Amino acid sequence: MPSYKTIKGTHDLLPEQMEKWREVESRCLGIMKQFGYHEIRTPVFESTDLFLRGIGSETDIVTKEMYSWEDQGGNALTLKPELTAPVARAYIQHQLGNQHPLQRLGYYDALFRRERPQKGRQRQFYQFGAEAIGSPHPEQDAEIITLAYTIYKSFNIQDMTVKLNSIGSAEIRPAYLTHLRDTLQSKKQELCQTCQTRLENNALRIFDCKNPSCQETLDSHAPLIFHSISDDDKKHFDTVIDILTSNDIPFEHDKKLVRGLDYYSHTTFEITSQSLGSQDALCGGGRYDELIEQLGGKPVPAVGFAAGVERLLLAMDENDTAEAFPLVYMVVLGEGAIQKATALVQELRSSTGESIVMETLRRSMKAQMREAGRCNARYCTIIGENELNSQCVVVKDMESGEQEEVPFSELSSWFSDK
Ligand code: AMP
Repeated sequence: MPSYKTIKGTHDLLPEQMEKWREVESRCLGIMKQFGYHEIRTPVFESTDLFLRGIGSETDIVTKEMYSWEDQGGNALTLKPELTAPVARAYIQHQLGNQHPLQRLGYYDALFRRERPQKGRQRQFYQFGAEAIGSPHPEQDAEIITLAYTIYKSFNIQDMTVKLNSIGSAEIRPAYLTHLRDTLQSKKQELCQTCQTRLENNALRIFDCKNPSCQETLDSHAPLIFHSISDDDKKHFDTVIDILTSNDIPFEHDKKLVRGLDYYSHTTFEITSQSLGSQDALCGGGRYDELIEQLGGKPVPAVGFAAGVERLLLAMDENDTAEAFPLVYMVVLGEGAIQKATALVQELRSSTGESIVMETLRRSMKAQMREAGRCNARYCTIIGENELNSQCVVVKDMESGEQEEVPFSELSSWFSDK
């Protein structure tokens, strides 16, 4: 028989992990809602062209990492490798801008990139994120950064750094890129193979390279885009900084932070955590004023961020979220008691709203009591022939060991009073 395993770079999430995952998801979406961001969910696959246009045809994602195929109808399709382009597509398709001039959208979803798997880098991974579509103003950039920061703070992430930069408006880029290419041309041999190609096609992305020799070459020779931004761009950036400062959000101005995707302009930011090792980015984002128009909509300014869920979990304190333990483990002794036991657990679930678990393996009393301890139940209740006769259950406090008999008819109110 063949033995089937998960595909390289993908993982099962087992029940013991899911508890934490669910809590992370609901807390992320809850904080987004507090900021006025409402969830949107787009399909798992889209037309390949959306990503070619949206992300930029020279980015690593598009050139090497997409899971793309042609379906039986000859359509070129791709599993979504990021969410900004699909959300922008949905915004245009459903004319969300007509409903309200500012759309605050949030998401929590699975993405697919054929990257080399390592700690914190998978081929199927999850992201949460937010996009604010409609405002060109710096307070919107600051709100997005504050939202991301607030989410990480709520998970008690200690050693994080907010890195911030401005790459200015799209108008300043052609002149800057010519300047950058001219400067680096004579140093081409010092760059890695990938960056030599980037120099021709998308020179700004050399700043994203992790290769130390490329970084040294940049440090010694490359002009920084921040020094080419216009006065208006600078004013926008200064306002973002002022708001973050008054919100007590610590940040570093990292003039080399440009971020990988083609659609960014003005503010770019990243939040990193020292505890993550080489893949240290918790989230990244920025302003993308040209994207909606590039995808066929009216020109609408936008800003957003995307954050890796696996990386958040790696950076979280192991004890940060408590597993939800059952309130009651129902010990059932003898076939005769099963029916009453099922009715009582069902009643307790609805009256307490808590997790109530019942024995269905018909094990010995000793094994069932051990099970109640193993699953960390706060109480166990015992029902057998004697209890059926007396119309009572035995309730045992698993911490103190105290026991008492509670009539069936009073069981719900007994637990509600606790
Ligand atoms: P990006 O969409 O590339 O800007 O990535 C945003 C965030 O998603 C990063 O900061 C990471 O936290 C996370 N991320 C990106 N790629 C991966 C991956 N292959 N596996 C796990 N997390 C990832």
